[in-house]
Amino acid sequence: MIPYLDLHSINAPYAEQIKSAMQRVVDSGWYLFGGEVAAFEREWATYCGAQHCTACANGLDALRLVLRAWIEMGLLHRGDEVIVPANTYIASILAVSDSGLVPVPVEPDPDTYLMSAANVASAITPRTRVLLPVHLYGQLCDMDALMSIARSNDLLVLEDCAQCHGVAPSYRGDAQAWSFYPGKNLGAMGDAGAVTTSDAGLAEVVRQLGYYGSVRKYVHRYKGLNSRMDELQAAVLREKMPDLDRCNHRRQAIAARYNAEICNPAVRVPLANAPHVWHVYPLLCGRRDELQKYLLDNGVQTQIHYPIPPHRQEAYAEWRSMSMPITESIAALELSLPCHPASSDADVSQIIDIINHF
Ligand SMILES: *Cc1c(COP(=O)(O)O)cnc(C)c1O
Repeated sequence: MIPYLDLHSINAPYAEQIKSAMQRVVDSGWYLFGGEVAAFEREWATYCGAQHCTACANGLDALRLVLRAWIEMGLLHRGDEVIVPANTYIASILAVSDSGLVPVPVEPDPDTYLMSAANVASAITPRTRVLLPVHLYGQLCDMDALMSIARSNDLLVLEDCAQCHGVAPSYRGDAQAWSFYPGKNLGAMGDAGAVTTSDAGLAEVVRQLGYYGSVRKYVHRYKGLNSRMDELQAAVLREKMPDLDRCNHRRQAIAARYNAEICNPAVRVPLANAPHVWHVYPLLCGRRDELQKYLLDNGVQTQIHYPIPPHRQEAYAEWRSMSMPITESIAALELSLPCHPASSDADVSQIIDIINHF
């Protein structure tokens, strides 16, 4: 069986390094607020070309903390509208609802499946305050177009970077939210997240909000939450970070082979003309469920990203009458092939053969 994702094989090259990094943490006696998290924050900021990085507990919290911080800073008010992609993992949208803001979903570009600048432009109202692009599947959104709309409408830009580690050397929005969930391109051994930004004030409020809203111990300025990265996760991420670019190049090589060698008229391969780190390799197929079963019968596991779009979830029952035909068709047709740094050339060849025989 070729698994969709094999975390054991992905982490195997670093197993010894990770064990000694964990030993280092055990021996230090510091499990929170030690040197590992501080070093991780410096190293990740440098890698991302950002001035500041604040670590937190997970990717959803990274998004929530930025929105909460902008509310505390007086830049946003409850009830303000945030434009979000309709085609995304639901966490991007949950963060908005949770902050008392109003998510406004827009249809994606039908070629990239990402936030469409034209659809954003027509969704702007006098209440719109934030644009929340998601670099879904690892592909960079058209940030030139989105940033120019944001600047001319005085919108804040929060990038959901949970799937795009390493896609661009520097980021242009006002803040980026990262997830280091184990299956992401840079994954911890548990939950972890971070915010990067070049706004020192925002970085500081995010840090305080994640630590019970305190300016210093026992002095609380905000009604904050507890959202911290622990030393063990930071130590793991520091060991893996230097190899991230190599891992992304391996994903890019696999995706390039799929794009060049899959030639079955029933299948549409994804466009590959924007920067892309292939967190997910998404193809579209009109007989998607049949193709998924055919691959499984031939020993290949696949996944669907995502089978039910947010506006069709019970959690967003208020959106039941919304029609999002492009998003719905992606949900009905999308199939994700194994595409990770531990996939072998032989596995990739076998997957291509099976699809071409379908
Ligand atoms: C994984 C993911 C998140 C949430 O990250 P967690 O660390 O699981 O909370 C948010 N947005 C997108 C697009 C994701 O893929």
